[in-house]
Amino acid sequence: MDADFTLYLGYPAVSIRENPWLKPLPSANIILMNDDCLFCKIIAGKIPSKKVYEDDNVCVFEDINPKAPTHVLIIPKRHIPGLKEAMPKDAEIIGYCHLVAAMIARDRGIEDGYRTVLNVGPRSGQSVFHLHLHLLGGRDLTWPPG
Ligand code: AMP
Ligand code: ZN
Repeated sequence: MDADFTLYLGYPAVSIRENPWLKPLPSANIILMNDDCLFCKIIAGKIPSKKVYEDDNVCVFEDINPKAPTHVLIIPKRHIPGLKEAMPKDAEIIGYCHLVAAMIARDRGIEDGYRTVLNVGPRSGQSVFHLHLHLLGGRDLTWPPG
C-alpha cells in the first residue's frame, strides 16, 4: 500500500511508518456513507472534529463529551450501524479498530490501564448508530462499568 498514513498525535504529525507493528489492512474497505449519519459526516469533514488518527479504513477523533482524560472514538470509515448489524465480512475491520485503540493507548502512555467499549443497542447507551469503539484511559477505571 503506497498511501501515506499519518498519526495526528500532536505536532509534528508522526507517520504510521514509525509504528511498524500496526499494519494497514491489505485492501482498503469500500467506503459506504450514510448521508443521515453524524459519524459519516465527521469522516467526510462536514462536521468538525478533533481528529487523532486516520487511515484508509478508520477515523479516530476526540469524544465531544469525554469521560476520561483519554476518550477517543475509533470508527470504521465504512458505515456499519452497530455490532449487531455487523456481518462476517466486518470482522477484520472490527479487529482493526481494536489494534488502532492499542496503538493510541501506547502512544499516549496509558498502557497501565485503559478500556475499549462498544455499546450495542439503546439500553447500553448507544446513541450514534455508526459502529464505534470508545477508548478510555488516563485514570483508574472501576469495574463493573455502570
Ligand atoms: P455511544 O453512546 O456509545 O453511541 O457513543 C457516542 C459518543 O459520541 C458519545 O460518547 C458522545 O459524546 C460522542 N459524540 C456525539 N457527537 C459527537 C461529535 N460531534 N463529536 C465527537 N463525539 C461525539
Ligand atoms: Zn455512518
